[in-house]
Amino acid sequence: TAAAAGDSFKFSDLRITNTQDPQPQRAWQELRFGHHFTDHMFIAEHCVEEGWGQPEIRPMGFISLHPAAQVLHYGMCCFEGMKAYAGADGRGRLFRPARNMERLRRSMQRLLLADFEPDELLQCLKALLRIDRPWQPEAPGYSMYALLRVDRPWLPEAPSYSMYVRPMAFSSTGSLGITAPSRTTLMILLSPAGPYFGTGLRPVQLFVDEVNVRAWPGGAGDQKIGSNYAPTITPLVDAFQRHGAAQVVCTLPQGPDPDAALFSESGGMNIMFFMDKASGGGQELVTAPLDGTILPGITRASILELARGWGDFDVSERPISIREVQQAVREGRLREVFGCGTACMVQPVDRLLRESGEAFDTPFDAEDPNTLTARLTRTLGDIQYGRVAHEWSVPF
Ligand code: PMP
Repeated sequence: TAAAAGDSFKFSDLRITNTQDPQPQRAWQELRFGHHFTDHMFIAEHCVEEGWGQPEIRPMGFISLHPAAQVLHYGMCCFEGMKAYAGADGRGRLFRPARNMERLRRSMQRLLLADFEPDELLQCLKALLRIDRPWQPEAPGYSMYALLRVDRPWLPEAPSYSMYVRPMAFSSTGSLGITAPSRTTLMILLSPAGPYFGTGLRPVQLFVDEVNVRAWPGGAGDQKIGSNYAPTITPLVDAFQRHGAAQVVCTLPQGPDPDAALFSESGGMNIMFFMDKASGGGQELVTAPLDGTILPGITRASILELARGWGDFDVSERPISIREVQQAVREGRLREVFGCGTACMVQPVDRLLRESGEAFDTPFDAEDPNTLTARLTRTLGDIQYGRVAHEWSVPF
């Protein structure tokens, strides 16, 4: 059974093989998101007959697959995105990692991949981070930036750097049948990362895609599975080439009236709107509800929890249409638009551009400390980098 299969995955079985070939030094300016990897990776394999094999940390490198592996044909794969942060005290921290473990487990269940015990995998991840841990907890002030093998003088100028963590799982079943998988591969990669869009807290422009639908009621848009991402590349490249947009924001059409379409989310982030209420009096933070068509982002959930705790404005998870945003802009009520996700954290958006040429502008002043974007960035950053003690921040 799946439960028995999950039980056979044990951190205490972990085998570690160190690299004989550590990488050369690299300057942090060269960092492009997702292009660089640490010296080691985690891998575990499961087959239905025998359960989980011994989980392993081994040198980062190629893996071999049967050419008929289901993942290569039917996209039977899923992944997670999380980050490890180095605090001023030199300790490494993960942000709400149990949530990523649970979400990975749900995605794997959707694909009928093997089950695992989330806490056992989290312990394996921490072990990997400790091995590719170039900072030394015993030497205060020495931090994860050393991972980038840079001299300490760079440190103050590199505040939004972190270790991007990529857990992933796929069917390595060597069979052309579109059937339940019998072999699962589970891996974790580590990739040192700088700011996602390379613009820091500078705003970006998003293209409103009213043609390509990413997810729909009854679909699997709320799972972090590969098949939700592959078809988004064409619209993304198109939006970049034709409009210079950094990302696409997806919409869910509601019949023939284009303005009735609902904002859903962006390629790697959930989208939030902060506006003055039409009824007068007060402000509202609005984001699409978890109705199965958007990914339940952990940054999204955290922002909603923080904002509700502040109690300074209404916080709503409800459908928000193009028409509503259009009206808010016309009436001068749209204050801020931002994306939120692990990779970018909080990403201000100063323009939403439609195919018709219509644009919703929300000028963003990156120097203004009183924007909601700035407040959230500070609050999340304080937690993630351990400047304040918080249960969401998990040291390793
Ligand atoms: N939406 C999509 C489609 C994503 O890929 C991501 C990144 N995981 C997010 C939203 C943001 O989720 P999180 O805050 O958990 O990173």
